Amino acid sequence: MVAYKTKVAERIHLPSRDRRERALAEAGYNVFNLDAEDVFVDLLTDSGTGAMSDAQWAAVMRGDESYAGSRSFDELESAVRDVMGFSRVVPTHQGRGAENVLYGTLLSEGDVALNNTHFDTTRAHVANQGADPVDCPVEGAHDLATDEPFKGNFSLERARSVVDEVGAERVPLVISTITNNSTAGQPVSVENTRRVRDFADEIDATFVIDACRFAENAGFVRRREDEFTDADIDEIAREQLGYADAIVMSGKKDGLANAGGFVATDDEALFERCKQRAILYEGFPTYGGMSGRDVAALAVGLREAVEEAYVADRIDGVRAFADLLEDAGVPIYTPPGGHAVYLDAGAALPHLDSDEFPGQALVCELYREGGVRGVELGSFAFPDTDRPELVRLAVPRRTYHTEHFEHVAETAATVIEKRESVAGLEITSEPENRELRHFTADLEPVSPSQ
Ligand SMILES: *Cc1c(COP(=O)(O)O)cnc(C)c1O
Repeated sequence: MVAYKTKVAERIHLPSRDRRERALAEAGYNVFNLDAEDVFVDLLTDSGTGAMSDAQWAAVMRGDESYAGSRSFDELESAVRDVMGFSRVVPTHQGRGAENVLYGTLLSEGDVALNNTHFDTTRAHVANQGADPVDCPVEGAHDLATDEPFKGNFSLERARSVVDEVGAERVPLVISTITNNSTAGQPVSVENTRRVRDFADEIDATFVIDACRFAENAGFVRRREDEFTDADIDEIAREQLGYADAIVMSGKKDGLANAGGFVATDDEALFERCKQRAILYEGFPTYGGMSGRDVAALAVGLREAVEEAYVADRIDGVRAFADLLEDAGVPIYTPPGGHAVYLDAGAALPHLDSDEFPGQALVCELYREGGVRGVELGSFAFPDTDRPELVRLAVPRRTYHTEHFEHVAETAATVIEKRESVAGLEITSEPENRELRHFTADLEPVSPSQ
């Protein structure tokens, strides 16, 4: 993190091994149930967990809490226009609020929505409208070790075959998620975005970009897409986002804030419809479920997110973390994405079958061994699908330092060294909705470890 220095320090602790063992058992071998105070390096998510800048904290103090006509909203509107290129903004409490507002406006029962890959809240909101979420990832998106530059791209081939099957009139919505969160945070090229725009025009559909990690994506585009080698990050962002009719945004990602989100568009009719739905679910259109201080911090965060130094730090930081893990002999998904490094738990713990949840076993061992918290994204989180056994180590923005990442890499290497002693897990209780079981299910080791 060469572009930042620490201004506010928070003390963290590595609990004793004894305490970690007990905490893990008390949590039902589900790290969502741990007290955060018992976690040393918390890589559960990059959502809302980053460090705000001094400029953002200063904005917090000046946040305007007026119910209507808040100055902080004007600041957000200008930031969205300057950075992302859209004139109309509907603020919401976080990204999923924006999804509810926009997808609730655009989708009806029986529709089909196409997306490079639906993020889980997106899938849930599409389904909540009675519509069918269909993924169109490119071939090779789930290959763990290839060197393709844009594994997050939207497959037009797949999309066309869906349209041939169901008919264009059933597909009113095409979404591109940048970066592609559910495909290991892989980027989407501007060229691919142009082609999705043309495809949406062909079938007369609305084209939405899920822009949660638009700045990281722009950073990858500059490094990997020849046309943009000399472009500024914010120019790339506006070029790419400009192909969409509307965007949904989570302020907790590339808004560099702890809360917030919005829909943005230039389409006046769509704006009006979203605004009305937002009043019902979020709040008056100049705060939308955020406090004025959160709106103010988000307005500053959006501008910081496209600073060259920020984006370089972010992408290089995640890359350096991935290199530490690889050097320590830990198998990972390559190339690493923008917000996280994904471990290949199937290769790390080859003695465990998928019904013994190797990913969750690895997550538990990382905590037991080093107080590190990651999240399973394999057969535990996605029952009945044929996904690789991945563990995500998400990197909170501007938060941890090289020594923390070294500790994580050492911890993972130690776990792999003694892999033979790592037991599989079985579920002892799970909620009715299996789709969301990884948040609340309890497990136990199949046979005692060590
Ligand atoms: C996080 C995220 C969302 C939802 O945003 P929240 O702020 O968590 O509600 C939607 N889409 C993508 C791609 C995300 O990463």
